[in-house]
Amino acid sequence: MGSATTITADAAAQGVPLPALKTHPKVIFFTDFDGTITQQDSNDYMTDNLGFGTELRRQGNQDVLYGRRDFRDSFREMMDSIKTPFHECISVLTKNIRLDPGFPAFYAWARANNVPVVILSGGMRPIIRALLAQWLGEEEVKHIQIVSNDVAPRPGKSIDEEGGWQIQFHDDSSFGHDKSLEIRPYAQLPDDQRPILLYAGDGVSDLSAAKETDLLFAKAGRDLVTYCENEKVPFTTFNDFNDILAVVQDIASGKLTPKEAATGRK
Ligand SMILES: [Mg+2]
Repeated sequence: MGSATTITADAAAQGVPLPALKTHPKVIFFTDFDGTITQQDSNDYMTDNLGFGTELRRQGNQDVLYGRRDFRDSFREMMDSIKTPFHECISVLTKNIRLDPGFPAFYAWARANNVPVVILSGGMRPIIRALLAQWLGEEEVKHIQIVSNDVAPRPGKSIDEEGGWQIQFHDDSSFGHDKSLEIRPYAQLPDDQRPILLYAGDGVSDLSAAKETDLLFAKAGRDLVTYCENEKVPFTTFNDFNDILAVVQDIASGKLTPKEAATGRK
């Protein structure tokens, strides 16, 4: 963080309006990170193994689900319970979090076919970058726009000392990061300029973002599927990114419209 090597296309995209339009794509692919590109949630993993543990984390999740607390406050409390130096957190996560088996092939296809991949995450940017760099290579990560929360040192400390870091939220929303904010300017473009907008996610926080897009890929077996049905959001389910790739290829080639692809629960 902060070093010259991290000033990349991703960093340059911050503050630029509609950065994913730069290459005039026909399709833009927005995606959640934890539990969607990864098989486990990295923040849950840290809370369970380095912070206050699974029981309190589950209690926090329930409190949010039943409206007793804001996601933002509950999530900050989980992150605050982790005193491990930040570089050690990254090292634990790169050893334990696994990638969706279809993601490398999906990403390679997207890159070769001018489909920008934009990651919208409630997680912390340096963790997302480190995991993606491990899987895709440092060079490739520079081409992926990441819109997420970040990490900051506590007053008088460095993030790499015990109790030295804290989460820094992306915006003032009760989610800490309102994912729909990034998509809305694309969704509001006039029809002749608006690319097809797709979204992949696994959690309830993905729903407001997905409502701005033409089609949501919802991870099979998760709560999000039920929410989509209740809220009448056009969706299809996926098990891994191989499923997503097949559908996105057909949409990009014009063989399938997003509407036709929205088959709901299979
Ligand atoms: Mg997720």
